[in-house]
Amino acid sequence: MAVGVLALQGSFNEHIAALRRLGVKGVQIRKPEQLHSVTSLIIPGGESTTMAKLAEYHNLFPALREFVKLGKPVWGTCAGLIFLADKASGQKTGGQELIGGLDCTVHRNFFGSQLQSFEAELSVPEIAAKEGGPPTFRGVFIRAPAILDVGSDVEVLADICIQSDKTSDLDSALESQKESTTSEKKVIVAVKQGNLLATAFHPELTADTRWHSFFLKMASEVGDEASRSASTSQED
Ligand code: GLN
Repeated sequence: MAVGVLALQGSFNEHIAALRRLGVKGVQIRKPEQLHSVTSLIIPGGESTTMAKLAEYHNLFPALREFVKLGKPVWGTCAGLIFLADKASGQKTGGQELIGGLDCTVHRNFFGSQLQSFEAELSVPEIAAKEGGPPTFRGVFIRAPAILDVGSDVEVLADICIQSDKTSDLDSALESQKESTTSEKKVIVAVKQGNLLATAFHPELTADTRWHSFFLKMASEVGDEASRSASTSQED
């Protein structure tokens, strides 16, 4: 199974290193035709405007949209999540191209600037059950986005509680979020929808490879389904 890693900008080397720790080769993707050689794709974190400009320059958007539409497994981390979202709000989103496909709205810099970057322990029961190990996962949030709303086909894998008075931007951005108490609000930070996985944080910057392992399993399950439906349609 060849896993592509979009290698325009950002933490693609760290994803490739995490895959290597699992014995899997990550293939750097910089041109549309290179997508033909991989069965799944990771879109790393970085800076989504810069990444979008480089993707436009290399004429990658049509091929990336086709990859998602064909049902091939794609995991977006941080800026990669922004790329996969159908809609993005927040600073400097005007005109920025997105791949889309993930039925959600993201806020690009939900938690504030680089200085407001933080780490948090996340409870992700579905992945802990599948991958074993400790019940929580370290979430590294760097100028991180958050998911403001999701469609009915989107499964929420993880959220975090934040104090509503922590940043000035939060109250307006959070209007559509559920409140858990008057001062704490839940913010969605990881989701899955069919062939798509998306995280607002950076698992590739931790030593824990369970997110990568989960994606590889998801990719082989989605791949099996795709080849089953291809052979069924051939029989028809
Ligand atoms: N908020 C950043 C952006 O808009 C993403 C940050 C990241 O990928 N660490 O691109």
